[in-house]
Amino acid sequence: MIMAGLRVRIYGDSILRKKAKRVRNIDDELHHFIEQMAETMRASQIGVGLAAPQVGRLVRVAIVREDADDDVPIHCLINPRLVEQEEEQTGSEGCLSFPTLRADVQRPLRVLVEAINPDGEEMHLEAEGFLARVLVHEIDHLNGVLFIDRAERDSLGWLIPDEDTEDGYRIESTSLDQIHRKFDRLHQKTE
Ligand code: ZN
Repeated sequence: MIMAGLRVRIYGDSILRKKAKRVRNIDDELHHFIEQMAETMRASQIGVGLAAPQVGRLVRVAIVREDADDDVPIHCLINPRLVEQEEEQTGSEGCLSFPTLRADVQRPLRVLVEAINPDGEEMHLEAEGFLARVLVHEIDHLNGVLFIDRAERDSLGWLIPDEDTEDGYRIESTSLDQIHRKFDRLHQKTE
């Protein structure tokens, strides 16, 4: 899938399983990369988070937003660390590296994340609910951990457009086996 210059890596690409390295230098090249990541996420229209390994680069950089709305600010986190987490929530998640897959995942309800911002300053981001979920999902990516690793198995499903439903789609139940087969086929097609 190509969006605004950066190719989003799809499940089955080995880079998604690798651990990203800490950023040591924040320079113009990194700023440019972060801007490209933001453009890629905006172009997806549905993305609320993106981690650098998802666009082929093993550095600890992630961007997040509370809502897939262009008016919602994008936070950029360099070398983010989850320093506190409180309580739990279970809710539906997706990932740009798994087109149309959805699953319920248990995540902390509240988190405190420390990171460096693009100006090189230390930042603290306190988040609750959906943004907390997005932050933990993206930090997982930097460690090669994917949402299907944490998903409740019986909640895995494909999002299928369906005009007869209120939301305009329905979920068709699937399994890890089927997910592997589908993305294997996708890789064979594109290689
Ligand atoms: Zn993801």
